[in-house]
Amino acid sequence: MGEHYVRGPGGARAALGYNEPMTPTPAEPISRVLSAATFAAERHRDQRRKGKDASPYINHPLALASLLAERGERDPALLMAALLHDTVEDTATSFEDIERAFGKEVADIVREVTDDKTLPQAERKRLQIEHAAHLSRPAKLVKLADKICNLHDMVVSPPTGWSLERRREYFDWAKAVVDPMRGVSAELEALFDREYRRKPAASG
Ligand code: ZN
Repeated sequence: MGEHYVRGPGGARAALGYNEPMTPTPAEPISRVLSAATFAAERHRDQRRKGKDASPYINHPLALASLLAERGERDPALLMAALLHDTVEDTATSFEDIERAFGKEVADIVREVTDDKTLPQAERKRLQIEHAAHLSRPAKLVKLADKICNLHDMVVSPPTGWSLERRREYFDWAKAVVDPMRGVSAELEALFDREYRRKPAASG
């Protein structure tokens, strides 16, 4: 069911991860980036964002990659990692799958931004703050874009069932992750600060 995929060039099919011999990763950067988008769309196909508009999950990785591209970030590995950044954490995808389809450079960035799901939520959130300063530049950019998009969504389409207090805490946690990464992109950091200023006001 729902097997809508392009029976086109080998790269895209290979990226979809079907049980067929893998064709080599397409060399053209634009093809590789689109293959990553196709792969992510396939992996997230049954997921929706937590926001009240429950948009298709793939909109989120696409928003990250668009944000980075619009800010002049053109490294294909970075854009691919942005598109794939939630596949291992949230779908049945391994780092090996990513490496096989898209290469080690992309897999390594995704590994850097992926939480260890065997740990409790509070510990994972603490580790994100602790690790932030030590990430590679591309991993910092993906993480920064992720936090910008998440704060934006938190304002325009807040997750259903989240209290005001929980949303406010999310803003502060996101800032605690971003602050140690400052110096990586003035433009993205300014964008983050703009979103942060939209933090919901405390009631009463
Ligand atoms: Zn994300």
